[in-house]
Amino acid sequence: MSFFMDFLHQKVPRAGREIPAYYRRALVISDTILIAYFVVCSAFFPLFAGQLQRAPLWAIVAAAAGLVAVRKLNLRMNMVCFTVLCAAWVFWNVYALGWSSGTQHFLTLLLVLVFFNVYDKPVYKIIWFVAILVFRIWLFSWSQQHTAVFHLDTSANTIYQTINTVGFFIILAALCIVFSTSIQDTERQLRLRNQTLYKEAGTDPLTGLPNRRSMVEKIEKFRQDSSGEPFCIAIADLDFFKNVNDTYGHNCGDYTLVKLTELFTQHAGGHYSVCRWGGEEFCFFLPNLNIDEAGVIMNDLCFAVERMKLSFEGHDFSITITIGVEENDYSSPLEDLLKGADTKLYMGKKRGRNQVVC
Ligand code: GH3
Ligand code: MG
Ligand code: MG
Repeated sequence: MSFFMDFLHQKVPRAGREIPAYYRRALVISDTILIAYFVVCSAFFPLFAGQLQRAPLWAIVAAAAGLVAVRKLNLRMNMVCFTVLCAAWVFWNVYALGWSSGTQHFLTLLLVLVFFNVYDKPVYKIIWFVAILVFRIWLFSWSQQHTAVFHLDTSANTIYQTINTVGFFIILAALCIVFSTSIQDTERQLRLRNQTLYKEAGTDPLTGLPNRRSMVEKIEKFRQDSSGEPFCIAIADLDFFKNVNDTYGHNCGDYTLVKLTELFTQHAGGHYSVCRWGGEEFCFFLPNLNIDEAGVIMNDLCFAVERMKLSFEGHDFSITITIGVEENDYSSPLEDLLKGADTKLYMGKKRGRNQVVC
């Protein structure tokens, strides 16, 4: 029951005048196959029922007009045209050949077209569904009270039933292909877009490194998945970075951050992952390492930064960093470990910078 209530309370986007591409395709394909089917039906009557019938010829004209209408009319009017065409065709067949004509299946196409229209309100879909159901029941009772105009012999009836079944199945299959492909495409594009958005939301635009949020997620995931494993966290802060900005300009500061990112990435060697923690601070996550091992790696990095030659618009300079390293104690929350690393970082600043405090 809840699935039905969810269906009823769906929010529906506005269709506008333009018919959505997937729906236009469905209508064009259905109309085109219908024209071919009506041509076959037109040929059937003189061959098996003895005389040419006007109804299949009119049906060809109506389906061709429907094809033109796809471009000219809005979605609702196109639905109405298609419904009138199918209902009239089914009615004429029941009138001419009786219930055994086998064209009643064509009413099912209307259900498919109605329910896959994302721009139609659920209540209209239900009304349409009830109307088709009532029409079919009424048509059956009508057919029981009236004698058919033609009487087909068994082989002619088998041939006509086959034509109708094949025509109906081809249109149904074509509609299913168009609608299911459209749903799959939409789903895939949505997922890819979500992935991109998620990645963008977790990435620092200047350096391309993960940001604080993604790093915290990564560490928390490691704590959950490998609760018994050691790990360390290190926070690095650039020394006197304000001087770089003040002396050579903000662009030079940005350049420095990008160059440092390159160095950090080159030195990672699978030992750590790094993120831009904010401003001129970076955070390193060193999984499966104790504080002594992490200290060695961070000291190497600190030394590499000191040796790195930077050059921006003809100005040669260098930079140093101070790093605080904290090891997981298996009991403190992540926040406390980060605070620990931060405290050690500022200890390093006080002690004279360009160093690692473990
Ligand atoms: P300390 O050694 O004590 O850390 O000195 P500091 O100059 O690095 O510290 P301070 O906090 O005074 O200055 C940090 C500077 O980093 C100030 C801010 O303008 C600069 N900064 C932060 N983010 C960016 C950025 O994205 N680009 C640039 N160019 N500068 C940034
Ligand atoms: Mg700082
Ligand atoms: Mg600084």
